[in-house]
Amino acid sequence: MTDRFETIAVHAGRDDFRQLRVHAPPLDLSTTYPVDDLDNGTASFDALVAGQASADNPIYARLHNPTVARTEAALARLEGTEACVAYGSGMAALTAVLMARRQHGSHVLVVRPLYGTSDHLLASGLCGLEAEFLDAGQIAERRRADTALVIIETPANPTLGLVDIQAVVAAAGEVPVLVDSTFATPVLQNPAQLGAAYVLHSATKFLGGHGDVIAGVVCCAESLAQPLRTVRAATGALLHPLAAYLLHRGLPTLALRVERAQVNAQLLAQRLADHPAVSRVFYPGLGTVRNADLVSVQMRGPGALIAFELVDGYQAAASVMRAVRLMTPAVSLGSVDTLIQHPAGLTHRVVAAADQLANGITPGLLRLSVGIEHAEDLWQDLAQALAAANEAGGRRVA
Ligand SMILES: *Cc1c(COP(=O)(O)O)cnc(C)c1O
Repeated sequence: MTDRFETIAVHAGRDDFRQLRVHAPPLDLSTTYPVDDLDNGTASFDALVAGQASADNPIYARLHNPTVARTEAALARLEGTEACVAYGSGMAALTAVLMARRQHGSHVLVVRPLYGTSDHLLASGLCGLEAEFLDAGQIAERRRADTALVIIETPANPTLGLVDIQAVVAAAGEVPVLVDSTFATPVLQNPAQLGAAYVLHSATKFLGGHGDVIAGVVCCAESLAQPLRTVRAATGALLHPLAAYLLHRGLPTLALRVERAQVNAQLLAQRLADHPAVSRVFYPGLGTVRNADLVSVQMRGPGALIAFELVDGYQAAASVMRAVRLMTPAVSLGSVDTLIQHPAGLTHRVVAAADQLANGITPGLLRLSVGIEHAEDLWQDLAQALAAANEAGGRRVA
């Protein structure tokens, strides 16, 4: 089989189609499966509870579902890992990793910034882990015998700073590293190839890509996937087969979507940087984010997310959100359509104010998830919204 992304994206997770004589993935909604042979049923049950990827009989849909398994197989291929375990959301996926790692220690090292709810989950101690927040450069010295995991997000939400994956893996030593690669997608970055043990995606975003699926996946080695499946079977944070079907359906166009959105983002970022109402633009493709030089080292492109700060602060940001017509003012990202949102007021609201500011999340910051519309239509909408904001603020853009 090929190792070219576009072809894998179209064909992965479809290996049994010829045998099944189907052209689209069968959607299996069964909650339970007949056990005609009890010996076989018992063996299947034991295997699945122990975290095996499949068994002769799926037994019960909390243990295994063939539609979900096909989607997992496809995503493992795209990340270049042995396995993938899918959950009902990105947060459920992160929680499962934390629960699985607790057997190895109760201390985790976390590099900020990261997605607001991930930050909140870790900082709140809800999972019974002591989270220590630090800079990537401090990992080697702060690592302890009971450190069970190192967590990074790159590009990071919302200011798009990059973290050197290989350097973090080296500093972590024996401790496995989890990379939240949601913003990059496997089109632009494969953290496992750089030594990351766990690659996490909120599949709600680019992987689903159409704003109609909440899902999370962890791509990793089979030995690490087994405890994750055991946690999933015990806690029930399942991906519904219909959601898995939709996720699988979006994968063939993943590369097309990401590449087009990225071309649009580069253009919008440049125009925003030249706009008088904008004081600062964060975009890896402009070199204006932390460690921007890593784009050419560990990524295949700068992605489709932009953050920008308005000269007139919060009022101007609120006014832009009100004035956009084509773009949707909404949280989330990675959809075919463009979304714009206010991190301090929405996605990162659960992060303490001081931690927000320390990580560049200012009152005038907006985050743009660029879609695949025509770039000129997007710019026209953004330009009129910026002009409206400026008028509301009592000044006119020349
Ligand atoms: C959205 C998001 C999450 C959480 O995923 P859900 O699917 O919303 O639970 C985690 N990390 C990043 C970077 C995200 O953007």
